[in-house]
Amino acid sequence: APGLYLVATPIGNLRDITLRALDVLNACDVLLAEDTRVSGKLLAAYQLSKRLERYDEHVADRVTPKILERLEAGERVAMVSDAGTPMVSDPGFRLAREAIAAGHQVFPIPGASAALAALTLGGLPTDRFLFAGFPPPKSAARRTFFEELAPVRATLIFYEGASRVADSLADMAAVFGPRDAAVARELTKLYETCIRGPLDVLAADPRFDSPKGEIVILVGPGSEAPVQAGDAESALREAMSRLPL
Ligand code: SAM
Repeated sequence: APGLYLVATPIGNLRDITLRALDVLNACDVLLAEDTRVSGKLLAAYQLSKRLERYDEHVADRVTPKILERLEAGERVAMVSDAGTPMVSDPGFRLAREAIAAGHQVFPIPGASAALAALTLGGLPTDRFLFAGFPPPKSAARRTFFEELAPVRATLIFYEGASRVADSLADMAAVFGPRDAAVARELTKLYETCIRGPLDVLAADPRFDSPKGEIVILVGPGSEAPVQAGDAESALREAMSRLPL
């Protein structure tokens, strides 16, 4: 069917692609890629050959109207990012939104995403979670960002570049305190690891001084129930009633 297909690709292990994703990549009329070289290699790994066109935030202004015309003409437009699910800390949102606004069909072709893969093996609560993307690169802005998330009663999921993991963990420990956390590295790849522990212990772990590879940081919801005004009052009254007066 004509429309925009947002196709998830692997985050490491090349076997992590769905049969449907391969069908769509094979059959689409246009294939948009965040980086045509990266996706060209991916297609070659599946013995697919398809002309790729670049779509990222730098060309979005120029390219989006042309893609909308092609959708209008009834073409099947597929989009992939460098890895995982398009639009999850990756390009595609602008195009999807404009395609929806113009009345075109948008199809998700679900598959790998580092956020959910990390949540799966992190060992932290999964009933509520919040994907927070990349923290700001500078410490002051990063602490403010974490402070805004501190009251959220959910497991927090962050993406982080390897060179910033130690700094981010230090700021997280300062803001969130000793909550349970996990650092998942190189998911689905040969050197996949997940290191779990309280944030302050992880922040002091020398293994994160100069880690390599791709990393997701998970921070648990914290155990302290938010203090309610009424609770404090009755706790105080109860404590006073036990004072030896
Ligand atoms: N669209 C992708 C997805 O669905 O996961 C995310 C793209 S974002 C630009 C790249 C970040 O995702 C990395 O910096 C890292 O935090 C995380 N990531 C991607 N692949 C990963 C992997 N195999 N293991 C751990 N983290 C990964």
